[in-house]
Amino acid sequence: MRKRLLAGNWKMHKTNAELDDYFQTFVMEAGYQTREVAESVDVVFAVPYTLIEKAVALTARHHIAIAAQNVHQKNAGAFTGEVSIPMLKESRAAAVLVGHSERRQHYGETDAAVAEKTRALLDAGMAPIVCVGETLDEREADQTNAVLRKQMNAVLSVLDAPGDMIVAYEPVWAIGTGLTATPEQAQDAHAQIRGLVGARLGEQAASKIRILYGGSAKPDNIGELLAQPDIDGGLVGGASLDPVGFAAMVRTSARFD
Ligand code: PEP
Repeated sequence: MRKRLLAGNWKMHKTNAELDDYFQTFVMEAGYQTREVAESVDVVFAVPYTLIEKAVALTARHHIAIAAQNVHQKNAGAFTGEVSIPMLKESRAAAVLVGHSERRQHYGETDAAVAEKTRALLDAGMAPIVCVGETLDEREADQTNAVLRKQMNAVLSVLDAPGDMIVAYEPVWAIGTGLTATPEQAQDAHAQIRGLVGARLGEQAASKIRILYGGSAKPDNIGELLAQPDIDGGLVGGASLDPVGFAAMVRTSARFD
């Protein structure tokens, strides 16, 4: 049985001054006073680099993990503006979003770079959350399966085992738009992704890997998404900025354990 995982992606939002209030409210509303929540659902917050250390300090005792939203694949070098894996480890980030569509779209992140980053993170003992998904044009041109195959195989071809890798299926047309994939559309894509993992890395890897849905997930639709057999959690952008709403999503996820 795969443990549910809910990851918040704060994108370029919030400052250190807002963290105490946010996490105080979140922890209380999600019910971390009892052990049950942490035992039933893993929670990760992907925050801006400058918030990582304080976020870790505020959440570690509840077993909430903090992730970065990007990383460079090299450990050091002349890469102005970039942040490396050793730097993130020093800040005690446990995971990193890789290949988010906003990075692919606005910063030209390629499948090859996504694969290198994923491999480097696994080698360093960190968990990559690899984001894949089709644009609206690609879906309308019936290219969804081909896009997922291309993006997933680029990553899978550089791995011998999935380690702690997590995959997030995020249809680009659903991110930040208020449009959500139907549970059936999402389930189809998740089943395909699991099949691709199985074909490259074996059935055991496929049955273990967690695949999250992302794209306008919110308190009132997370339940029907999680009811699908291949949807193991969510990657939540906008709705994770509100600690009360995100805590409600965590409570819903905990009911599926
Ligand atoms: C995201 O940023 O990964 C995301 C899914 O955003 P939203 O939930 O706002 O669509």
